[in-house]
Amino acid sequence: MQLVSTKDELRHHLDAVRMAGRSVGFVPTMGALHEGHLSLVGAATADCDVVVLSIFVNPLQFGADEDLESYPRPRQRDLELAETAGVDVVFTPSPQEMYPGSVFTAVHVAALTSTMEGAARPTHFDGVCTVVTKLFNLVGPCHAYFGEKDYQQLAVVGRMVADLDQPVTVVGCPIVREPDGLALSSRNVHLSGEQREAAGVLHRALRAGATMIAVGEHDGEAVAAHMAEIIGDEPLARLDYATVVDAATLEPLRALARDAEIRLLVAAAFGSTRLLDNVGVTVP
Ligand code: AMP
Repeated sequence: MQLVSTKDELRHHLDAVRMAGRSVGFVPTMGALHEGHLSLVGAATADCDVVVLSIFVNPLQFGADEDLESYPRPRQRDLELAETAGVDVVFTPSPQEMYPGSVFTAVHVAALTSTMEGAARPTHFDGVCTVVTKLFNLVGPCHAYFGEKDYQQLAVVGRMVADLDQPVTVVGCPIVREPDGLALSSRNVHLSGEQREAAGVLHRALRAGATMIAVGEHDGEAVAAHMAEIIGDEPLARLDYATVVDAATLEPLRALARDAEIRLLVAAAFGSTRLLDNVGVTVP
Protein backbone atom coordinates (compact mmCIF):
# COMPACT_ATOMS: atom_id res chain seq x y z
CA MET A 1 0.00 0.00 0.00
CA GLN A 2 1.36 3.39 -0.98
CA LEU A 3 1.04 6.37 1.36
CA VAL A 4 0.64 9.72 -0.40
CA SER A 5 0.30 13.06 1.34
CA THR A 6 0.82 15.61 -1.44
CA LYS A 7 -1.58 16.59 -4.22
CA ASP A 8 1.13 16.43 -6.91
CA GLU A 9 2.19 12.93 -6.01
CA LEU A 10 -1.42 11.69 -6.01
CA ARG A 11 -2.18 13.25 -9.39
CA HIS A 12 0.98 11.93 -11.04
CA HIS A 13 0.64 8.46 -9.60
CA LEU A 14 -2.97 8.07 -10.77
CA ASP A 15 -2.27 9.57 -14.20
CA ALA A 16 0.38 6.86 -14.62
CA VAL A 17 -2.12 4.19 -13.48
CA ARG A 18 -4.64 5.28 -16.14
CA MET A 19 -1.91 5.61 -18.81
CA ALA A 20 -1.15 1.94 -18.13
CA GLY A 21 -4.81 1.18 -18.94
CA ARG A 22 -5.85 0.47 -15.36
CA SER A 23 -9.07 1.77 -13.78
CA VAL A 24 -9.22 3.80 -10.56
CA GLY A 25 -11.71 3.35 -7.71
CA PHE A 26 -11.91 6.16 -5.15
CA VAL A 27 -13.28 6.05 -1.59
CA PRO A 28 -13.32 9.47 0.13
CA THR A 29 -13.50 9.33 3.93
CA MET A 30 -12.73 11.33 7.07
CA GLY A 31 -11.01 8.30 8.64
CA ALA A 32 -11.82 6.49 11.90
CA LEU A 33 -12.51 3.62 9.56
CA HIS A 34 -15.12 0.95 10.31
CA GLU A 35 -16.89 -1.82 8.41
CA GLY A 36 -19.07 0.76 6.62
CA HIS A 37 -16.01 2.39 5.04
CA LEU A 38 -14.48 -1.02 4.35
CA SER A 39 -17.62 -2.12 2.48
CA LEU A 40 -17.02 0.80 0.10
CA VAL A 41 -13.42 -0.39 -0.33
CA GLY A 42 -14.77 -3.90 -1.02
CA ALA A 43 -17.08 -2.57 -3.76
CA ALA A 44 -14.21 -0.54 -5.25
CA THR A 45 -11.77 -3.46 -5.29
CA ALA A 46 -14.43 -5.63 -6.97
CA ASP A 47 -14.92 -3.06 -9.78
CA CYS A 48 -11.55 -1.36 -10.23
CA ASP A 49 -7.85 -2.18 -10.73
CA VAL A 50 -6.42 0.38 -8.30
CA VAL A 51 -8.24 1.60 -5.17
CA VAL A 52 -7.50 4.98 -3.59
CA LEU A 53 -8.78 5.83 -0.12
CA SER A 54 -8.57 9.42 1.09
CA ILE A 55 -8.54 10.29 4.78
CA PHE A 56 -9.15 13.98 5.37
CA VAL A 57 -11.16 15.65 8.14
CA ASN A 58 -12.34 18.56 6.02
CA PRO A 59 -12.59 21.77 8.08
CA LEU A 60 -14.82 23.42 5.44
CA GLN A 61 -17.72 21.08 6.11
CA PHE A 62 -17.85 21.67 9.89
CA GLY A 63 -19.76 24.59 11.37
CA ALA A 64 -18.07 26.82 13.97
CA ASP A 65 -19.78 25.04 16.91
CA GLU A 66 -19.35 21.50 15.57
CA ASP A 67 -17.00 18.61 16.38
CA LEU A 68 -14.00 19.32 14.08
CA GLU A 69 -11.50 19.22 16.96
CA SER A 70 -12.93 16.15 18.67
CA TYR A 71 -13.53 14.15 15.47
CA PRO A 72 -11.70 10.81 16.02
CA ARG A 73 -8.35 10.46 14.20
CA PRO A 74 -6.89 6.97 14.89
CA ARG A 75 -4.43 7.23 11.99
CA GLN A 76 -2.25 4.16 12.60
CA ARG A 77 -5.24 1.86 12.99
CA ASP A 78 -6.82 3.34 9.85
CA LEU A 79 -3.72 2.52 7.82
CA GLU A 80 -3.70 -1.07 9.07
CA LEU A 81 -7.41 -1.53 8.26
CA ALA A 82 -6.96 0.03 4.82
CA GLU A 83 -4.05 -2.24 3.98
CA THR A 84 -5.89 -5.38 5.14
CA ALA A 85 -8.94 -4.35 3.07
CA GLY A 86 -6.85 -4.17 -0.10
CA VAL A 87 -6.45 -0.41 -0.56
CA ASP A 88 -3.59 0.38 -2.99
CA VAL A 89 -3.09 4.08 -2.27
CA VAL A 90 -3.98 6.08 0.85
CA PHE A 91 -4.12 9.86 0.44
CA THR A 92 -3.72 11.68 3.78
CA PRO A 93 -3.16 15.36 3.01
CA SER A 94 -2.72 17.91 5.80
CA PRO A 95 -5.24 20.80 5.98
CA GLN A 96 -2.36 23.03 4.83
CA GLU A 97 -1.79 20.83 1.76
CA MET A 98 -5.49 20.89 0.82
CA TYR A 99 -6.03 24.59 1.63
CA PRO A 100 -2.71 26.42 1.41
CA GLY A 101 -4.41 29.82 1.49
CA SER A 102 -7.84 31.41 1.82
CA VAL A 103 -10.56 29.67 -0.18
CA PHE A 104 -12.55 32.10 -2.34
CA THR A 105 -14.43 29.44 -4.30
CA ALA A 106 -17.26 27.15 -3.24
CA VAL A 107 -19.27 24.53 -5.10
CA HIS A 108 -22.94 24.95 -4.24
CA VAL A 109 -25.70 22.52 -5.18
CA ALA A 110 -29.09 24.22 -4.82
CA ALA A 111 -32.49 22.75 -3.84
CA LEU A 112 -31.29 19.31 -2.66
CA THR A 113 -29.28 21.00 0.11
CA SER A 114 -31.98 23.20 1.63
CA THR A 115 -33.59 20.57 3.88
CA MET A 116 -32.51 17.99 6.48
CA GLU A 117 -28.69 18.10 6.93
CA GLY A 118 -28.55 21.33 4.91
CA ALA A 119 -31.11 22.98 7.21
CA ALA A 120 -29.33 21.74 10.36
CA ARG A 121 -25.82 22.57 9.06
CA PRO A 122 -26.09 25.55 6.67
CA THR A 123 -22.47 25.52 5.41
CA HIS A 124 -22.05 21.74 5.41
CA PHE A 125 -22.85 20.79 1.82
CA ASP A 126 -20.84 23.63 0.28
CA GLY A 127 -17.89 22.30 2.29
CA VAL A 128 -18.56 18.73 1.15
CA CYS A 129 -19.06 19.66 -2.52
CA THR A 130 -15.96 21.87 -2.55
CA VAL A 131 -13.66 19.25 -1.05
CA VAL A 132 -15.13 16.41 -3.11
CA THR A 133 -14.63 18.48 -6.28
CA LYS A 134 -11.02 19.15 -5.27
CA LEU A 135 -10.50 15.44 -4.60
CA PHE A 136 -12.13 14.47 -7.92
CA ASN A 137 -9.82 16.96 -9.69
CA LEU A 138 -6.79 15.36 -8.03
CA VAL A 139 -7.85 11.72 -8.44
CA GLY A 140 -9.07 12.19 -12.02
CA PRO A 141 -11.48 9.95 -13.94
CA CYS A 142 -12.66 7.19 -11.60
CA HIS A 143 -15.52 5.34 -10.01
CA ALA A 144 -16.21 6.98 -6.61
CA TYR A 145 -17.94 5.07 -3.80
CA PHE A 146 -20.29 6.74 -1.31
CA GLY A 147 -22.46 5.20 1.43
CA GLU A 148 -26.25 5.44 1.48
CA LYS A 149 -25.72 6.10 5.19
CA ASP A 150 -25.30 9.78 4.18
CA TYR A 151 -28.18 9.57 1.73
CA GLN A 152 -28.58 13.30 1.16
CA GLN A 153 -24.83 13.61 0.54
CA LEU A 154 -24.99 10.78 -2.02
CA ALA A 155 -27.84 12.57 -3.85
CA VAL A 156 -26.07 15.94 -3.73
CA VAL A 157 -22.75 14.54 -5.00
CA GLY A 158 -24.55 12.65 -7.79
CA ARG A 159 -26.26 15.85 -8.87
CA MET A 160 -23.02 17.86 -8.72
CA VAL A 161 -21.20 15.30 -10.91
CA ALA A 162 -24.07 15.35 -13.45
CA ASP A 163 -24.45 19.14 -13.50
CA LEU A 164 -20.69 19.82 -13.80
CA ASP A 165 -19.81 16.86 -16.10
CA GLN A 166 -17.21 15.69 -13.63
CA PRO A 167 -15.50 12.58 -15.11
CA VAL A 168 -16.62 10.37 -12.25
CA THR A 169 -19.12 7.53 -11.92
CA VAL A 170 -20.76 7.77 -8.50
CA VAL A 171 -21.61 4.40 -6.93
CA GLY A 172 -23.94 4.27 -3.90
CA CYS A 173 -23.38 1.42 -1.40
CA PRO A 174 -25.78 -0.03 1.23
CA ILE A 175 -25.65 0.89 4.91
CA VAL A 176 -23.63 -1.42 7.19
CA ARG A 177 -25.24 -1.84 10.63
CA GLU A 178 -24.55 -3.19 14.09
CA PRO A 179 -26.56 -6.29 15.12
CA ASP A 180 -29.22 -4.07 16.80
CA GLY A 181 -29.61 -2.03 13.61
CA LEU A 182 -27.53 1.02 14.57
CA ALA A 183 -25.75 2.29 11.45
CA LEU A 184 -21.97 2.21 11.85
CA SER A 185 -20.56 5.71 12.20
CA SER A 186 -17.19 7.13 13.22
CA ARG A 187 -19.12 9.23 15.76
CA ASN A 188 -20.52 6.17 17.59
CA VAL A 189 -17.31 6.00 19.69
CA HIS A 190 -18.45 9.20 21.46
CA LEU A 191 -21.66 7.56 22.79
CA SER A 192 -21.81 6.56 26.45
CA GLY A 193 -23.11 3.04 27.19
CA GLU A 194 -26.62 4.38 27.83
CA GLN A 195 -26.59 6.57 24.75
CA ARG A 196 -25.36 3.67 22.63
CA GLU A 197 -28.30 1.62 23.87
CA ALA A 198 -30.73 4.46 23.21
CA ALA A 199 -29.36 5.08 19.70
CA GLY A 200 -30.97 1.83 18.51
CA VAL A 201 -34.21 3.83 18.46
CA LEU A 202 -33.28 5.39 15.09
CA HIS A 203 -33.38 2.13 13.20
CA ARG A 204 -36.45 0.97 15.16
CA ALA A 205 -38.30 4.13 14.10
CA LEU A 206 -37.30 3.63 10.46
CA ARG A 207 -38.42 0.01 10.54
CA ALA A 208 -41.74 1.00 12.09
CA GLY A 209 -42.20 3.61 9.33
CA ALA A 210 -41.35 1.11 6.61
CA THR A 211 -43.78 -1.41 8.12
CA MET A 212 -46.60 1.15 8.17
CA ILE A 213 -46.11 1.68 4.45
CA ALA A 214 -45.83 -2.06 3.78
CA VAL A 215 -49.25 -2.62 5.38
CA GLY A 216 -50.94 0.11 3.36
CA GLU A 217 -50.33 3.58 4.84
CA HIS A 218 -50.23 6.11 1.98
CA ASP A 219 -49.84 9.33 3.99
CA GLY A 220 -46.14 10.26 4.19
CA GLU A 221 -46.80 12.80 6.94
CA ALA A 222 -48.48 10.16 9.12
CA VAL A 223 -45.43 7.92 8.67
CA ALA A 224 -43.06 10.78 9.52
CA ALA A 225 -45.13 11.65 12.62
CA HIS A 226 -45.06 8.03 13.80
CA MET A 227 -41.25 7.87 13.44
CA ALA A 228 -40.92 11.20 15.28
CA GLU A 229 -43.10 9.89 18.10
CA ILE A 230 -40.99 6.74 18.54
CA ILE A 231 -37.77 8.78 18.70
CA GLY A 232 -39.48 11.38 20.92
CA ASP A 233 -40.33 8.62 23.40
CA GLU A 234 -36.62 7.87 23.93
CA PRO A 235 -35.53 10.20 26.77
CA LEU A 236 -31.86 10.29 25.65
CA ALA A 237 -32.69 11.26 22.04
CA ARG A 238 -33.18 14.85 20.85
CA LEU A 239 -35.02 14.57 17.55
CA ASP A 240 -33.83 16.80 14.73
CA TYR A 241 -36.01 15.47 11.89
CA ALA A 242 -38.01 12.46 10.76
CA THR A 243 -39.18 12.70 7.19
CA VAL A 244 -40.44 10.81 4.14
CA VAL A 245 -39.09 12.05 0.82
CA ASP A 246 -38.93 11.20 -2.86
CA ALA A 247 -35.72 9.12 -3.23
CA ALA A 248 -34.51 11.15 -6.23
CA THR A 249 -35.64 14.74 -5.58
CA LEU A 250 -35.59 14.59 -1.74
CA GLU A 251 -38.94 16.48 -1.75
CA PRO A 252 -41.06 15.68 1.35
CA LEU A 253 -44.06 13.57 0.34
CA ARG A 254 -47.60 13.58 1.60
CA ALA A 255 -49.29 11.18 -0.82
CA LEU A 256 -47.27 8.01 -1.34
CA ALA A 257 -48.02 6.80 -4.88
CA ARG A 258 -47.93 3.14 -5.76
CA ASP A 259 -44.47 1.92 -6.89
CA ALA A 260 -42.86 5.22 -5.84
CA GLU A 261 -39.24 4.96 -4.68
CA ILE A 262 -39.12 6.81 -1.38
CA ARG A 263 -36.65 7.31 1.45
CA LEU A 264 -37.37 7.55 5.17
CA LEU A 265 -34.71 9.63 6.97
CA VAL A 266 -34.11 10.52 10.62
CA ALA A 267 -31.55 12.50 12.59
CA ALA A 268 -31.23 12.90 16.35
CA ALA A 269 -28.63 13.88 18.91
CA PHE A 270 -27.63 11.70 21.86
CA GLY A 271 -25.79 14.07 24.18
CA SER A 272 -23.45 16.00 21.89
CA THR A 273 -23.34 13.21 19.26
CA ARG A 274 -25.61 13.73 16.27
CA LEU A 275 -26.54 10.57 14.35
CA LEU A 276 -28.28 9.97 11.01
CA ASP A 277 -30.03 6.99 9.50
CA ASN A 278 -32.37 6.15 6.63
CA VAL A 279 -34.02 3.32 4.73
CA GLY A 280 -35.36 3.00 1.19
CA VAL A 281 -38.90 1.77 0.49
CA THR A 282 -40.81 1.00 -2.70
CA VAL A 283 -44.48 1.84 -2.03
CA PRO A 284 -46.53 -1.34 -2.58
P1 AMP B 1 -17.20 9.63 6.56
O1 AMP B 1 -15.82 9.15 6.88
O2 AMP B 1 -18.14 9.58 7.70
O3 AMP B 1 -17.19 10.93 5.80
O4 AMP B 1 -17.77 8.56 5.54
C1 AMP B 1 -17.08 8.22 4.36
C2 AMP B 1 -17.99 7.40 3.48
O5 AMP B 1 -18.35 6.21 4.15
C3 AMP B 1 -19.28 8.13 3.11
O6 AMP B 1 -19.59 7.88 1.75
C4 AMP B 1 -20.28 7.48 4.05
O7 AMP B 1 -21.60 7.51 3.57
C5 AMP B 1 -19.76 6.07 4.09
N1 AMP B 1 -20.26 5.39 5.30
C6 AMP B 1 -20.16 5.83 6.59
N2 AMP B 1 -20.81 4.97 7.42
C7 AMP B 1 -21.31 3.98 6.64
C8 AMP B 1 -22.09 2.80 6.91
N3 AMP B 1 -22.47 2.48 8.14
N4 AMP B 1 -22.43 2.02 5.86
C9 AMP B 1 -22.06 2.35 4.59
N5 AMP B 1 -21.34 3.44 4.28
C10 AMP B 1 -20.96 4.25 5.28
